[in-house]
Amino acid sequence: MNVYKLNEDKLKEELRHALDREEFCLLYQPKLNLKTGRLCGVEALIRWEHPERGIISPLDFIPAAEETGMILPIGEWVLRTACEQNKAWQEKGLSPMIMAVNLSACQLFVDGLAEKVQSILDESGLAPEYLELEITESMTMDVDSVLPVLHKLKQIGVRISMDDFGTGFSSLYHLKEFPIDSIKIDRSFVRNCTNDSKDATIVKTIIVMAHQLQLEVIAEGVEFKDHLVFLQQNLCDEAQGYLFSKPVPPVELVNIIPILEEV
Ligand code: C2E
Ligand code: CA
Ligand code: CA
Ligand code: CA
Repeated sequence: MNVYKLNEDKLKEELRHALDREEFCLLYQPKLNLKTGRLCGVEALIRWEHPERGIISPLDFIPAAEETGMILPIGEWVLRTACEQNKAWQEKGLSPMIMAVNLSACQLFVDGLAEKVQSILDESGLAPEYLELEITESMTMDVDSVLPVLHKLKQIGVRISMDDFGTGFSSLYHLKEFPIDSIKIDRSFVRNCTNDSKDATIVKTIIVMAHQLQLEVIAEGVEFKDHLVFLQQNLCDEAQGYLFSKPVPPVELVNIIPILEEV
């Protein structure tokens, strides 16, 4: 057995206990409405605070969580924690925000996702319009199984967003057939939208197309002021990225709202 396999097995074993030991936490990254300049939502992003290894990025443990099936209880914890947090902010008197949560393909394909979402909303007291589920194109390849799930989720009243738009397959088909509310332009296009004319064209075209299909558009990975200006000029609805804020713990989010809205 090689050392990588050993490490991977150890990681999977530790992953099994991490939830019970309360080693996961959520950070929240602001989304700004570009017309009003105001905070309109946040995306919940998971972190694993490992007792020995320190903070582990989701990119380094979500695949193992998917392979072991641990993604199901972890994903449920993420949904519940994010909904409870959003409700707590509303009760604190903050302007209502939309909480976006990333779904894993495993969650979409297991029976009872819509029922689970409904019971989490009921228990947390969060109204469905304040929850948005981010899915990716790669998860939607199997149209016949995914479409009924998405329709069930829409019946509950939650929002659905197509994440990492432009990096997957058959995107245009999905835009037409799927009950989605918004699309998120992948960071790989946004990153060069002001210095690469092809990326600029792609970003502009996605925005125009989305609007013609009555979808909202959000740009992710906005790091520089000139990205923001470009997106505003091209009527992108929302933006998210380090220019405004990195993902932050809940207490910090409340503190940065006034600063955010001045960018
Ligand atoms: P994603 O959904 O595409 O999330 C955006 C990632 O880009 C986040 O990385 C975020 O911290 C980072 N980011 C945001 N703004 C900027 C920017 O301006 N510049 C740069 N360079 N990066 C930026 P993070 O938090 O490491 O998450 C990575 C991926 O892990 C996410 O990509 C998502 O696919 C997955 N993930 C995160 N949380 C969850 C979760 O709760 N459940 C599931 N299933 N997946 C999750
Ligand atoms: Ca996302
Ligand atoms: Ca992305
Ligand atoms: Ca994304």
